Amino acid sequence: MELPNQHARPEEYITSDEEERRRQDYEINSYYERSDPQSYDLEGDGVEARVTYEGSANIILVNSGLRDADDDDPDGFALCMECNRWLTSEDQIESHTDEDDSECYANASEEAIKRDIELFSEGQHDTVTLTSPLPADIEPQRAEEFYRTLKETVYQGILVSFDLDEEEIGTFVKPATGEHGQVTTVFYETSDGGAGVLHSLMDETRFRQVARETQTVLHGDPDDEGAASGPVTSV
Ligand SMILES: [Zn+2]
Repeated sequence: MELPNQHARPEEYITSDEEERRRQDYEINSYYERSDPQSYDLEGDGVEARVTYEGSANIILVNSGLRDADDDDPDGFALCMECNRWLTSEDQIESHTDEDDSECYANASEEAIKRDIELFSEGQHDTVTLTSPLPADIEPQRAEEFYRTLKETVYQGILVSFDLDEEEIGTFVKPATGEHGQVTTVFYETSDGGAGVLHSLMDETRFRQVARETQTVLHGDPDDEGAASGPVTSV
């Protein structure tokens, strides 16, 4: 279900059950519907990477509910179709549909509760991807760790280079579909339309500056003698 417009109201206090829930994370997955991006190959010291850019690319975020839901809690979200209240636990569903003492003003029955709802939102965002094969000196079982590190450090490199806050750029990894590597890292401007900073990464020189910032994030100033080198530094 596409995330509908919501009505919220401030609560004077919350129950300990709700407080516990508030600390939990939601399971959110991001998707990039690639259509026709511009691209170029970045060649470095033993590492090749494919860089793509697409203006107004379709980015979809899917919220599948609480990450650490109890076994007896519903998968995804549950919604009362009679009164439009969200219900997040079996206890809530039970008291909401209690025949004698329903918390639903419309006296919803069990059948009126729609379960297993995943919520999605969709937007058009300037998007850059970086795809590279796993460097030969990284063992395959460390691939996930490698790509997670690559994503985080290039992300920090972009934020530092363009003087941006974390709210302005989103990032996630996805399986790669082409011949350039097994994992693609996606960066997108979170505001619709965007400020155009990611577009400037189609200038290879600009991307190399980001790579330098990334090196600094990892190891300190890359011009320092004795600075350690790692796979990311050779992009
Ligand atoms: Zn209801």
